[in-house]
Amino acid sequence: MLGGMQDWGLTLDKIIAHARTNYGDREIVTRSVEGPIHRQTYAALYDRAQQVSHALWQSGIAQGDRVATLAWNSWRHMEVWYGASCMGAVTHTINPRLFPEQIAWIANHAEDKILFLDLTFVPLIEKIAGELKTIRTFVILTDAAHMPQTSLPNAVAYEDFIAGRPTNAIQWGAFDENTAAGLCYTSGTTGDPKGVLYSHRSNVLHALAANQPDCFGVHAHDVVMPVVPMFHANAWAIAFVAPMAGAKLVNPGAKLDGESVYELLESEKVTMTAAVPTVWLMLLQFLQANDKKLTTLKRVAIGGSAVPEKVLRTFEVDYGVDVIHAWGMTEMSPIGTLGALLPKHQHAPIDERMRLKLKQGRAVFTVEMKIVDDQGKELPRDGKTFGRLVVKGPAVAKSYFKNAGARRADGTVLEEDGFFDTGDVATIDPDGYMQITDRAKDVIKSGGEWISSIDIENIAISAPGVACAAVIGVAHPKWDERPLLIIEPKPGEQPTREQCLAHLEGKIAKWWMPDDVVFVEKIPLGATGKINKLALRETFKDYVLPSAQAAE
Ligand code: AMP
Repeated sequence: MLGGMQDWGLTLDKIIAHARTNYGDREIVTRSVEGPIHRQTYAALYDRAQQVSHALWQSGIAQGDRVATLAWNSWRHMEVWYGASCMGAVTHTINPRLFPEQIAWIANHAEDKILFLDLTFVPLIEKIAGELKTIRTFVILTDAAHMPQTSLPNAVAYEDFIAGRPTNAIQWGAFDENTAAGLCYTSGTTGDPKGVLYSHRSNVLHALAANQPDCFGVHAHDVVMPVVPMFHANAWAIAFVAPMAGAKLVNPGAKLDGESVYELLESEKVTMTAAVPTVWLMLLQFLQANDKKLTTLKRVAIGGSAVPEKVLRTFEVDYGVDVIHAWGMTEMSPIGTLGALLPKHQHAPIDERMRLKLKQGRAVFTVEMKIVDDQGKELPRDGKTFGRLVVKGPAVAKSYFKNAGARRADGTVLEEDGFFDTGDVATIDPDGYMQITDRAKDVIKSGGEWISSIDIENIAISAPGVACAAVIGVAHPKWDERPLLIIEPKPGEQPTREQCLAHLEGKIAKWWMPDDVVFVEKIPLGATGKINKLALRETFKDYVLPSAQAAE
C-alpha cells in the first residue's frame, strides 16, 4: 500500500524559492573579484538566477547540457549555479587550481557548451581556448565597465548577458528529482579525473542531512562564510544549506589569505565558516602574529584533510571556537561524518575531548559506513582494527560520468553489496567515531604492518619552527617501506632533524618513528589545498634512507 502524501520533487529551485519567500531580505555579501564588497538579497538571487536561465535558454542551452563555471565563491557564481541547474541544465564547477591541460581535458570530457569565468581566469582560458572543443560562449563574470580586452571567441560580460531578461524563466523546476543538477570532477590523483554527477534529489537530501543540529546546525540567525570553494564538492553543501536555513551568506571571492579571511569574519560578524586545514593555518598565523581576536565566530568546519591537533586546540582553547571536524569526498556530495561529541563525552576532560575531536567523527544520517578487509568482510568496530572504509547512501555516487572506471556491467563502481569504496583506510570505535588512518595508497607498509602517515604528520606539524609536515613511505630493503618525514620550516626558522624527531618521541609507537627527516622550501599542495603526496613520492622516489644503507 502506498502512502497518501503529495509528490513534491526534491529539486533545487525549491531551495531558492523558499529563501526568497521566507528570508527574502537576508543578504549575500561578496568580496568581489573587482575589489569592492558587494551586497544583495536572496530575493535578488532568485530573480537574477531566473534571468540567467532565460539567457541560457535563449542561447540554445537545453536541459541536460553542461554549463561550466571557473569561478570563486560569489553572488554571480551562485546565480549561474541555481540558474543553470533549476532549468534542468547541469552546473559543472571546474577547479581552477588544476593544471591547464587538465582543465581542457575535463571541459572536453564534460562537453561543456558555455563557460562562465571570473576575471582572474581569463588569461588561463585564453591560453587553452584552442583546445576547448565544445565551448561556444565565454561569459566573463563582470560588468561592461570591467570587461577586459580578450581573444576569447564570443566573449560577453555577465551583466550584459543577463541584462533585460525576464525574471520568469522559460524552463524552471518541475522535472524529475533524479535529474542531473551538478557535475564535479575528482582531483584525479590517479588516472584521468572522473566526474561525479549529482542529482537534484541527492543535493537536496544531502543539504538537509548536512544541516542537522550535530552537523553544521546553521540557523537563520547565523552568518555563514564558506571559504571552501563552490568548485570543491559544492562548497560542502553550504551554498544549499544557507538559503535553505535563511542564514546570511558571506563569499570571500578570490582572497583566501589569513588577513583577508579575518577581515571578512570580523566585518560581517561571521558565526560559522568552513575550509580545509591549510586555510586555517594561514588564519591562525595571522591572528597570532598580529595579536587579533575572533569576536563573533562560534563554529568552524574543517575537513578535506585531517585537522592537525595544533589547529584544533588553538581554535577551541585559545579562541573559544567550536571545531567541527568533517570527513567526506566529492563522491559523497561530500559530507560523510562530522565530529560532534556524544552526550557522554560533552563534559569529558579536555584531552579526552580533543582526542575524540581529532577523529573524523560519526556518520551523518543518510550515510551508512563500515570497514572491510580485502575480501569485503566487515571488520570489528573496536577503534583499533584498520580496514577499507566503504559507504552507502542517497548522496553517494554509484557511477562516474560516462561510466568512467566502471567495475560492473551496469556501469557502476560499487562493491558487490552496493557499498562504495572510499579509498580511505580507517578505524571505527565502539561509539561510532571513525578515524582515517590514511588514503589506501598513502599508507606506509612496514614489515607487513601499516603505519599511518596522517597520525605522524599531525604531531610533527606542532614541532617548533615547522610550517607544514608530510610523511611518505620510502623503499627499504628489509622492511619494504619506512617513513620519511618531510618538513617545510616556518619562514626564517631552521628546525633540525633531531628536534623534529624528539618532538615525536613518546607520542607515536617506536616502530612508526620516521627513519629520516628532509627539509624542503615548500611542500606541494594539490588542487583542493591538500598535501600532494603523489608529487612528493615522485620527488623522493630514489631517496636512500640511512637505515636502508645500513641494512644492505
Ligand atoms: P576530495 O574528493 O578531493 O574532497 O577528497 C576526498 C578525500 O579527502 C577523502 O577520501 C579523504 O582521503 C580525504 N579527507 C577528507 N576529509 C578528511 C579528513 N577530515 N581527514 C582526513 N582525510 C580527509
